[in-house]
Amino acid sequence: MASPSVVIVGGGIGGLFAANALIAQGLRVAVYEQAPALGEIGAGVYVTPNAVRHLERVGLGPAVEKWGARVGADSHYFRHDGTPIAPVQVTDAAGNPCFGMHRADFVDFLAANLPAGVVHTGHRAVGFAQNGDSARVTFSNGAAVEADGVVAADGIHSELRPFVFPPSTPVFHGTISYRGLVARERLPDWPMDRWQMWAGPSKHFLVFPVRHGTMVNYVGFVPADAEMKESWSAPGDPDVLRREFEGWDPRIDAVLKQVDKTFRWALYDREPLPTWTQGRLTLLGDAAHPMLPHLGQGANQSIEDGMALATILARVDTSAVPVALLAYEKLRRERVAAVQLGARQNGLRVDSADADLAARDAQLVAHANFRKQLYSYDVAPEARAVAEVLLK
Ligand SMILES: Cc1cc2nc3c(=O)[nH]c(=O)nc-3n(C[C@H](O)[C@H](O)[C@H](O)COP(=O)(O)OP(=O)(O)OC[C@H]3O[C@@H](n4cnc5c(N)ncnc54)[C@H](O)[C@@H]3O)c2cc1C
Repeated sequence: MASPSVVIVGGGIGGLFAANALIAQGLRVAVYEQAPALGEIGAGVYVTPNAVRHLERVGLGPAVEKWGARVGADSHYFRHDGTPIAPVQVTDAAGNPCFGMHRADFVDFLAANLPAGVVHTGHRAVGFAQNGDSARVTFSNGAAVEADGVVAADGIHSELRPFVFPPSTPVFHGTISYRGLVARERLPDWPMDRWQMWAGPSKHFLVFPVRHGTMVNYVGFVPADAEMKESWSAPGDPDVLRREFEGWDPRIDAVLKQVDKTFRWALYDREPLPTWTQGRLTLLGDAAHPMLPHLGQGANQSIEDGMALATILARVDTSAVPVALLAYEKLRRERVAAVQLGARQNGLRVDSADADLAARDAQLVAHANFRKQLYSYDVAPEARAVAEVLLK
């Protein structure tokens, strides 16, 4: 049986992990990234057990241990003034941990694990066409490639998504986040073994460690003004950020005193799409399901996507690629839509949208169960079962 060849458009966390998963299962893969070099911004990403298990399966367990910062049982939610609310669930049901990661480290080790020649930078996809036998992507530099299947992993503004579904407008949620990193030496007394969140009126503040505990990652979520609504990502003013959290827990003040540079990111997602696949083209990661960061699942769900896709595609021949891509979509769509909508709900919760704070606090206590289930899910056996049905 000839195994399918796959072109991935987009070399972010979603596209690079999918390439790792497809290669680990014996498929032929090429990744095309628009940027002249792979890279990421100076911010953290939270990596949870539902994704870590797949990183381990492609041989990246040691890299996660090396570059990640494990968060432990002292992780906690607080009210804005520092009053403790509830412990945070930081493991799956089997006790597997969550890690804070520097986004640049993550992209670096995902790319370094790929054979030479798989990633082609400087290729911006601008067109797509297909016939019954193959699919073709064209790039702004004049290049064109053909493959049995194409995966659009080109982010929330995906250039290829309109070939699957009519263009839609991203949903703005009236919030921006200030993000950045502070070196450990500047906060020598900061506990580096925990994820901590302060949930206050219309705002929340999050801190977790990255890069094996040598950097503190912070994110402050605040309401946006009209001007910020137009901005997707821009440098922020550290003094404005400090003013946003004036009068909150002095621990937040201690972090923000050390901030020299920060950037702003306006929060958008999209309504869940009714379909992700058109023939030999499918969507993955933010191209398929951009979500708010309030469950820390954007990257983790894109990793689940990659493992599901690879597990199904590895079991079919080239003629069955369209059926396999539809099966991948069917397996993923419902779970991801629930996470997308759950992230919206959790954002309202930690921004104290409910005036009854005692009720809100009780919801945060109960939320541990939701997180435990989310983190315990393993998409690989589900995908194997789907592929077995296809092969019958
Ligand atoms: C600051 C920040 C913090 C985040 N924190 C978290 C977190 O804590 N936990 C979490 O799970 N998620 C987090 N997310 C979300 C998460 O990073 C994404 O959901 C995840 O990385 C999946 O993204 P992706 O690979 O699908 O898309 P992206 O990361 O957007 O990557 C898309 C790639 O495609 C390339 N591209 C775009 N158009 C083209 C084209 N036409 N041709 C070729 N290449 C193209 C882009 O240059 C980019 O490299 C965060 C996101 C940001 C921005």
